[in-house]
Amino acid sequence: MIPPGSTIGIIGGGQLGRMLSVAAAQLGYRCHIFDPHQHPPAADVAAYLTRAEFDDLGALREFGGEVDVATYEFENLPVAALDVLGGKLLPSTRSLAIAQDRGREKAFIEGTGARVTPWRTVSSLEDVQAAVAELGLPLVLKTRRYGYDGKGQAWIREAGEAETAWEAIAEEPAVAEAGVDFIAEFSVIVARWEDGRHAFWDSPQNEHGEGILRRSTVPSSEPVAAHVAEAREATLRIAEALGHVGVLTVEFFASRDGPLVNEIAPRVHNSGHWTIEGAVTSQFEQHIRAICGLPPGLTGLMRGGAVMENLIGDEVECWPELVAERGAHVHIYGKGEPRPGRKMGHVTRVTRHP
Ligand code: AMP
Repeated sequence: MIPPGSTIGIIGGGQLGRMLSVAAAQLGYRCHIFDPHQHPPAADVAAYLTRAEFDDLGALREFGGEVDVATYEFENLPVAALDVLGGKLLPSTRSLAIAQDRGREKAFIEGTGARVTPWRTVSSLEDVQAAVAELGLPLVLKTRRYGYDGKGQAWIREAGEAETAWEAIAEEPAVAEAGVDFIAEFSVIVARWEDGRHAFWDSPQNEHGEGILRRSTVPSSEPVAAHVAEAREATLRIAEALGHVGVLTVEFFASRDGPLVNEIAPRVHNSGHWTIEGAVTSQFEQHIRAICGLPPGLTGLMRGGAVMENLIGDEVECWPELVAERGAHVHIYGKGEPRPGRKMGHVTRVTRHP
């Protein structure tokens, strides 16, 4: 067990690192952020900052010597470099290596017996055309690496659009996926301990706009609730196959033939922000508990449910009305300039029992 008073390293200093640091501080830990940016949002609330590139082996080794355990808050990281942290890194680089490559990720998910929409890897225009012929339309191209929030994605809705879509993703190695005519989207968020103990939260129903999460609602609607048991089983199989320690999020489509995995995030997730006020233990505190080997906290709802809405780009400018709204829990990430599509904060409203 890593006791309070110890130092937790967090690779990546965005809003997830910031909320992890706040949760860790509440339990008496100190956080050490590792991030190349000038003003990472997490550094405002953490004890220490190393400003270095993610592949700086010397800086990573030194960081590894200064922390008692280390974790990461996003997945576009160089796996080979992070290997220098050895067993101190939780979740391990295995979760990272699989989640950061959409091709490996899908094959891995299928290997655990969970289902995904029909897909294939593509690395040329000919491959894209073959995928259109095999999978039908609509389909979506997603770059294998470095995509997030709808970036690195292009839809093909008519056969003539294959070339434009291939160019739109800069001819990067990609996966082509059949479009899912989903009923709704939801996620399963689980925390897993080294010894296999685990805890789920209620599954939020998620609404996206332009590939970015807009709103998460708990409890989910009836059609989604009907998919949750099967989706939890799939999530647990994935977590076990990864040997994952910490929070793991699996995003699903509720489709007419049951839950289909969209993607996995080996970390705390935007669709779990509602747990800060809406659940007994937040995803951030539970992640800290799991990587430090503290016992699991309860994950039940505090009241009837919660609705979390992201503040994207200049939406954050409505903060004066939000902070004046009774019962609205406002989170502003301290990122400075709002840019279109940038997640600047979120607001959670805890809802009463119906
Ligand atoms: P992703 O970055 O893969 O999570 O995709 C962002 C969003 O795009 C998803 O949450 C969906 O709303 C939509 N999307 C992605 N892939 C598909 C698909 N195969 N079929 C339908 N919608 C999709």
